[in-house]
Amino acid sequence: MSGGLRLIEHPLAHHIVTHLRDKTTHPATYRTLTYQLSLLLAIEATRDLVTEEKKIETPLEAASGRVLAHSPLVVVPILRAGSGMLQPFLDVFPDVSVGYIGLERNHETAKARSYYCKLPPLEGRRVFVIDPMLATGGSASQALALVKERGAADPKLVCIVVAPEGLQEVGRMHPEVPVFAAAVDRTLNSSKYILPGLGDFGDRLYGT
Ligand code: URA
Repeated sequence: MSGGLRLIEHPLAHHIVTHLRDKTTHPATYRTLTYQLSLLLAIEATRDLVTEEKKIETPLEAASGRVLAHSPLVVVPILRAGSGMLQPFLDVFPDVSVGYIGLERNHETAKARSYYCKLPPLEGRRVFVIDPMLATGGSASQALALVKERGAADPKLVCIVVAPEGLQEVGRMHPEVPVFAAAVDRTLNSSKYILPGLGDFGDRLYGT
C-alpha cells in the first residue's frame, strides 16, 4: 500500500462527521459516533489483510471459505484522544495487540512532548497509529517515527479529520505512510486547531 491520503467516501461517514462537528452533540453520543466512524475507518484501513482458504462443514455440506491469515495487528492510539478510536479494532479483529504513545501538545508552542511509550513487539506486524485530529502533523509524525524505530515496516495512520498542513507534514516526514481519514478540513487557526474541525477531540469525548 502506498502513501498519501485515503479519504473514506461513505454517506454514513459524512453523516457521523457532521454530528461530531456539531457543538451540541453530548459526550455519550460523541463516543458512540466515534466508535461507529472508527469502525468504518478500521475496515477501510485493513482492506489489504491477507486471507487464506479454510475448509468447513456447514449444517448441510462441506464447503470452503476464506479466513484472515495469521497476521497480528498492533493498534497504537496516541493518548488521549486516540483511545476513543481503539474499541472497534479490538471488537472486530481476532488477533490484536495494543501499544500506547502519550504525546502532549504544549498550547503555547503547539509542539508535542512524549510522556509515555509502551509498545508490544512490532516486527512483522501490521501497525495502525490512531489519532483522530491530524492538525500540524507533529504528533503523528513523532508517533510514526517511534513505531518505525521499534520495527514497524509499513505503519498506517488512521484519523478522523485531517488538516492540509498535517497531511503535508506527514507526507514530508513519512511519504510512504497511507493516511486514512473521514474528512479533510480547511486549515488551522492560530492555536493550531483545525477549522472548521470538531474542537478539542479529547475534551468532547471525555466531557472535560
Ligand atoms: N486536536 C484536537 O483535538 N482538535 C484540533 O482541532 C486539533 C488538534
